Amino acid sequence: MEWETVIGLEVHAQLATCSKIFSGAATAYGAMPNTQACAIDLGMPGVLPVLNEETVNMAIKFGLSVGAEVAEKSVFARKNYFYPDLPKGYQISQFELPVVKAGTLTIYLDDGTEKIVGITRAHLEEDAGKSLHEDFQGMTGIDLNRAGTPLLEIVSEPDLRSAKEAVAYLKNLHTLVRYLGICDGNMQEGSFRCDANVSIRPKGEQTLGTRTETKNVNSFRFVEKAINYEVSRQIAVLEGGGKVVQETRLFDAVKNETRSMRSKEEANDYRYFPDPDLLPLVISQAQIDAIRETLPELPQDKQKRFKEQYGLSDYDANNLVNNAPLGGYFEAVVKQTAASPKLATNWIMGELSAALNKADITVENSPISTEQLATLLDRIQDDTISGKIAKTVFECLWEGMLDVDGIIEEKGLKQVTDTGAIEAIIDDVMANSPEQLAQYRDGKDKLFGYFVGQVMKATQGKANPGQVNNLLKKKLCS
Ligand code: ADP
Ligand code: MG
Repeated sequence: MEWETVIGLEVHAQLATCSKIFSGAATAYGAMPNTQACAIDLGMPGVLPVLNEETVNMAIKFGLSVGAEVAEKSVFARKNYFYPDLPKGYQISQFELPVVKAGTLTIYLDDGTEKIVGITRAHLEEDAGKSLHEDFQGMTGIDLNRAGTPLLEIVSEPDLRSAKEAVAYLKNLHTLVRYLGICDGNMQEGSFRCDANVSIRPKGEQTLGTRTETKNVNSFRFVEKAINYEVSRQIAVLEGGGKVVQETRLFDAVKNETRSMRSKEEANDYRYFPDPDLLPLVISQAQIDAIRETLPELPQDKQKRFKEQYGLSDYDANNLVNNAPLGGYFEAVVKQTAASPKLATNWIMGELSAALNKADITVENSPISTEQLATLLDRIQDDTISGKIAKTVFECLWEGMLDVDGIIEEKGLKQVTDTGAIEAIIDDVMANSPEQLAQYRDGKDKLFGYFVGQVMKATQGKANPGQVNNLLKKKLCS
């Protein structure tokens, strides 16, 4: 039987505020355990939560960016459950009335097609603390620093049809929240993590299959692996005559498998009810309009513009859009050079990105300025140097030399374009390779490359490759 995969993702994005959602305690990552949880985060008797307005502004920003309606009125509810890292015994979340209603996110798949993914809702809630299993033998440590950290939970429709699509959606969302400046996107620190709901059904079937939910996966690679594992497992269960059990699972990155954690709770297990300590959240149209003014150019708009304005492929545009600083660098280079945007992209995605990665520095700290790279591209464009020799100049710039033209002059890298000079070298090479010449003229076409190589060698790579090709063709056959 042919099976269809169905995936819906719940993403938890930590909002990049300085203080918590209902208290003034700091949210900074990495502090000594239990130094950043105040009486409110701990739910001490007599305390009252006060909503951090910045989190509301961020939720509105997100809602507008996915074309969703921002709720005029939303309500905070208590989600009750017992867990050692949840000091109050409930999490403040939003249930029936979330702040952001339905929207959409357009994603770009590897094959260049676009897909519109439904976003069901997004709501504000507080994070729980953390259980620490590693440092304590036979015991569990509790760090409550994270308790009360603001989260935006973004829930997708079950619109995704493969692990690859799920990853594309996640990456697009990850780029979006960073563009909006509402989440730092640091997945290692858990700032952006996702629960993957996966089910399968016979192809063509309309009703959804029973799903499992794999919790807290915090890397793109793991999401892909967890989903693929789950799909194979569910197929094996169903084809073996069994039934998929609706349950919560966890992904073991070491063993590369998902494991059952607990049977799935239903919403009524949580005994949700409106939090009596918090008023309903009311948002005015004026507040929404003011925030609309602060929206940056969104990734999907920039993607479109890069393709139209610079003639870039989907692939190139996507790479430059996903890394906003790199995209900014690209646009600055293009403004300063006569070379094509495509050539600029190739150098930025190729040579420059490789060097930056190797040295582990970000493009903002690139030792090569946009002006220098633009000049380098100009010298390729006006045939002063070949693309190959340009790599030597690039290395000199990377090492700290400043002036492109100075480097070309000083190192004698100028391209040889004098026809007479190239012809003289070709004559030399032909005279020194009588055997190869005879074979070539006998029909061994492959030897053409040998002659090109010899001429380039004799000119230390400086002969203009186009001219060398043309002149060689003429002379070898005459
Ligand atoms: P919860 O997991 O908190 O019970 P929901 O019932 O709203 O919340 O579902 C959460 C996520 O599960 C959503 O992203 C939704 O698209 C996805 N989902 C729901 N049913 C299925 C299914 N049968 N297969 C795959 N994903 C599903
Ligand atoms: Mg869920």
